[in-house]
Amino acid sequence: AIVIFGSINIDIVARLEALPKPGETLHAPAAQIGLGGKGANQAAAAARLSGSARLVGQVGNDAFADTARTALARFGVDASALRTDRDHQTGLALIAVDARGENTITVIGGANLSIAPTDLPEFEKVLFPAKVLLLQLEIPLAVVRTAAQAAHTRGVPVILDPAPVPHEPLDPALYALATVMTPNETETERLVGIRPHDAQTAADAAAVFHQRGLARVLIKLGARGVFWSADGESGFIPPFRVTAIDSVAAGDCFNGGLATAMAEGRPFADCVRFAAACGALATTRHGAADAAPTRDEVDELLRS
Ligand code: ADP
Repeated sequence: AIVIFGSINIDIVARLEALPKPGETLHAPAAQIGLGGKGANQAAAAARLSGSARLVGQVGNDAFADTARTALARFGVDASALRTDRDHQTGLALIAVDARGENTITVIGGANLSIAPTDLPEFEKVLFPAKVLLLQLEIPLAVVRTAAQAAHTRGVPVILDPAPVPHEPLDPALYALATVMTPNETETERLVGIRPHDAQTAADAAAVFHQRGLARVLIKLGARGVFWSADGESGFIPPFRVTAIDSVAAGDCFNGGLATAMAEGRPFADCVRFAAACGALATTRHGAADAAPTRDEVDELLRS
């Protein structure tokens, strides 16, 4: 199975004409309450595409934990290995969006941040039926490092989405422990100091990732497509033509798709194309986890 070790949030989204200013109270007609957090989003995408994805992580001791479990079950994610941290809240994102799509987001990391490297022995039992392990950086960096090390020791491929890029420098050991990393444009710039905007600049950035010990890198260029460089080969996948309305979680669906294709043992270039199709389809729908495409939709776009 595909195993995702990462964050679980509940997103509470209010849509308003304008964002409230400091001291101001505004009324929104409704709030949307949905599943979020990069771990949960990527698990939802992988489950929808592959039919078998397990999410490992922590929720808190509150009603939002039940909301998260119910939503995960609806996507077909195996959430049986989620741990409850009685001392912390479930992760929350309070999101306000104005009429122009501008937003403000407040994240309460809660139980996502209370996982410690010393918890790893307990987590390993549920992490390592993994055929592919998918990691992001919304749980503590030291935990990501320990999990990547454990996967590496067992020969389990690791996809590391370096998002969000931490303020402190990324642990250099992660470059050699990850099988593949999937930074977007801003993450690439923050990590290697080169802003990629086309195949050439992406190749320049990829060279720096390789110098640091990373074997394979996929540089997500949003509506410009994706550049990949792996094992001495490289390529550029132009964007699939879709009607994009909401880019939220395009990267998460991309990663869920990449994990799905890698778990099926496809050639690497095919895995990248499959992932890019998933990312493109995600932009045709609103929402985070809800934006994940089905296998039929991906196959159809790949044939087009
Ligand atoms: P992130 O959400 O991490 O910032 P991107 O926005 O770069 O990720 O999107 C991930 C991938 O999804 C892109 O590399 C591309 O393959 C695909 N994608 C994103 N936006 C579009 C778009 N407007 N049209 C076609 N493909 C897209």
